[in-house]
Amino acid sequence: MTIVKEGKQKKIEHLKELIQLALAVVCLLALCSISFKANAAGTVGDRAQVSKLQAGRSVAADGAGTVGTADTATITRAVWDAFTPEFTDVPKSLKATKDVTIETNAPAGVKVTYKVSKDKYAAVDDQGVLTGKQVGKVTVTGTFTAQVEGVEETKTARFSIKITGKKKVYIDPGHQSKANGGQEPVGPGSSVTKAKVAGGCTGVSTKIPEYKFALTIGKKLKKALLAQGYDVAMSRTKNDVNISNVERAKKGNKSGADICIRIHSDSIGDSSVRGVSVLYPSTSNPYPVKKQAKKSKKLAKALINEYCKATGIKKRGIVVRNDLSGTNWSTIPTVLIECGFFSNPTEDKLLNDPDMQEKMVDGMVAGIDKYFGY
Ligand SMILES: [Zn+2]
Repeated sequence: MTIVKEGKQKKIEHLKELIQLALAVVCLLALCSISFKANAAGTVGDRAQVSKLQAGRSVAADGAGTVGTADTATITRAVWDAFTPEFTDVPKSLKATKDVTIETNAPAGVKVTYKVSKDKYAAVDDQGVLTGKQVGKVTVTGTFTAQVEGVEETKTARFSIKITGKKKVYIDPGHQSKANGGQEPVGPGSSVTKAKVAGGCTGVSTKIPEYKFALTIGKKLKKALLAQGYDVAMSRTKNDVNISNVERAKKGNKSGADICIRIHSDSIGDSSVRGVSVLYPSTSNPYPVKKQAKKSKKLAKALINEYCKATGIKKRGIVVRNDLSGTNWSTIPTVLIECGFFSNPTEDKLLNDPDMQEKMVDGMVAGIDKYFGY
């Protein structure tokens, strides 16, 4: 009996030992798991790694925030004094609506914040992403901040960047204060000639001459296009000029513009006629602009559709015209918009109303956007 008892006792003792051992193993495993999770490198039991981790923790415990982020660490006076802030690989220009990330030589522990001189032209965010808004030049200032042995220090650096247009539009406001009856060829190499600049029409109600109206719309269109990130060139910015239609086309060709919009108003003997027409060169045009016939037609369609949508002005339609010198001498897609009829008393007043002119211009911009696919 006693022997048996002793045997049971021994078994119980053995079991206790086993349980203790199992508990010890579980605790060890749990510890290893914590250490593994905390160690980003994933190497369990590496003394060097563990001590690095502890060092990281002590930085965090100083109240600096998240472990390991560059903007929170303290840097030494020697590192700060030797640091000259610079921007690396900054482009000289940036297209409107496009962006670029500004890179710097800031070492770990130095935080950079950005500012642009004119937020009309570009914007910059906290991450240094610079976005072009409209044509112009901006200066970007970077402020480099660091905690240098417990003291906040800053240094600044600047660079200039040119914002270029997403596309370029050439605007030709029709006519000028004085007509020019001198003759010029209607197209390159043609023996057929036309007046250099015709007189244009006058509003039956408002008495406003077409050349003034065309310049007013041209300037408003320019402003609206610039605000949308386009670059703009104009054949004229004053009424008192003497620029022939051929010269206007050549100026547009040289401007580097992607398209040409010619602005006019219509007139006819019948005062009941009203509405907008957009004139474009066709594939049977005998001059080099023939190459731009398809694109010109696409532009004419987009322009008239959006113009009518924005203004409610009656759509007469797009019309092939291969007899216009200002179009025939062009080498870029070219259209001429007859905004409405100055010979119709109601439409004349409407076209010269500033509120309506905003709608006309908005419609033109929408048409141009559509043509380019924006
Ligand atoms: Zn005209």
